[in-house]
Amino acid sequence: MTVIKSINPYSGELLKEFNSLTEKEIQAKLSTGSVAFSIWKETAFEKRAELMNNAAKVLKENREKYARIISLEMGKVLKESLSEVDKCAWACEYYAEKASEFLQAEAIDLPDGKKAKVIHQPLGIILAVMPWNFPFWQVFRFAAPTLMAGNVGILKHASNVPQCSLAIEEVFTLAGFPTGTFQSFLIDSKTTTSLIEDDRIKAVTLTGSEKAGASVAAAAGKNIKKSLLELGGSDPFIVLKDADIRKAAETAVKARMINFGQSCIAAKRFIIEEEVYEEFLSLFVEHFRNLKQGDPMEEDSDFACMARPDLAEELYNQIDKSVKAGATVLYGGDKPEEGSALFQPAILTDIPTSAPGYYEELFGPVATIFKVKNAEDAIALANDSEFGLGASIWSEDKEKAENLASKIESGAVFINAMVASNPHLPFGGVKKSGFGRELSRYGILEFVNSKTVYLG
Ligand code: NAP
Repeated sequence: MTVIKSINPYSGELLKEFNSLTEKEIQAKLSTGSVAFSIWKETAFEKRAELMNNAAKVLKENREKYARIISLEMGKVLKESLSEVDKCAWACEYYAEKASEFLQAEAIDLPDGKKAKVIHQPLGIILAVMPWNFPFWQVFRFAAPTLMAGNVGILKHASNVPQCSLAIEEVFTLAGFPTGTFQSFLIDSKTTTSLIEDDRIKAVTLTGSEKAGASVAAAAGKNIKKSLLELGGSDPFIVLKDADIRKAAETAVKARMINFGQSCIAAKRFIIEEEVYEEFLSLFVEHFRNLKQGDPMEEDSDFACMARPDLAEELYNQIDKSVKAGATVLYGGDKPEEGSALFQPAILTDIPTSAPGYYEELFGPVATIFKVKNAEDAIALANDSEFGLGASIWSEDKEKAENLASKIESGAVFINAMVASNPHLPFGGVKKSGFGRELSRYGILEFVNSKTVYLG
């Protein structure tokens, strides 16, 4: 049996310990999930919507309590945790309102005068393997559409956020969902593979690293089950010479530093046209310097710490190797103390293609800044990455920006704005950022059987 520890990364304090589920408990919970599915799939949309709206209410009424659990377990500042809880309530309300419209049967008139239709039916128990960085949001953006479609959910959350995992299960329980509709499984990642093999699990979604994604998708493929992968990103943030440079620089710092840089859609590579490079850089550094580090629970802290000491160490190693390969540290970048999650943000320039800062994802507060000759070079550099999640382009010429957007290899491009997830917009990547889409109508269609019914 594994012990799963909840540790405050800012103070290092051990908050709680949990025993992982035993094999017997796993089997019992899977049976509960199957029974729940048999009830839930027959439950009318109106009732599902009522309960999903209740979940939004539970989140709103307990926002402070849930936000504190998030900040305590993974170290983000409380104001960001509060926004995260609010966003989860938004997703619940969005799908409560939209699910039945999204899943309406579609009529098809055939050329020979016959008719057919497509109906969208739930699949069963869907397993979600989720990361710690937005420990509530990542789960709700899966759970709201998946449950509204009539499926039931099992959550295997990241091992450093067990209290978040249990708190999310509590939201659905307090909202009145039938027992077993959404269950938290405190298990280690090895047990996840055997869970995927179980016949009662019909599909799996994973948000996390490439390595975890490859392993989970391989297990799903071996068992002929659908998988959806939301993996890493190294999003470009392109600033052209005709952009509003002040606004771009201010947004750039926000886009890099939100969640202390631990976001898949954080802007990571800043690609600036040479005419405005110096101006952008000096504004960027100014905004970067002004951010205040402090206790995550303090109102005026802009950031606190990384989610775990090993993540701070790993990020520092990427800086160190980049410098050894020839990159320049323009700001910050000191080595973190051993065993500490505190980390000094950094800015790198002159990054050679051989540096990790060029080709790896920097999952933390480190900005890499590149100078390019023109828009064409900017696109080439943006696409010179194995990732393809989001991208941001800044230009006052909207037509040019739209044209360039079509040339970027990514799942989303935001023009004159930072990349952000929103229930109304499909979310997902290409290349090694994964496959499938979450949110919007696209998201709810991922875990249904779109069944053709031919009317002869
Ligand atoms: P991670 O180590 O891959 O963990 C993610 C989840 O996968 C955790 O629940 C983890 O459990 C589990 N896991 C790890 N290895 C596994 C395996 N071999 N088999 C089954 N499950 C396994 O990722 P992370 O460090 O938490 O998150 C950072 C990464 O996630 C970054 O690359 C980031 O870009 C990406 N991400 C992507 C998105 C997106 O929407 N595209 C959003 C957020 C984050 P344990 O904790 O027990 O190991």
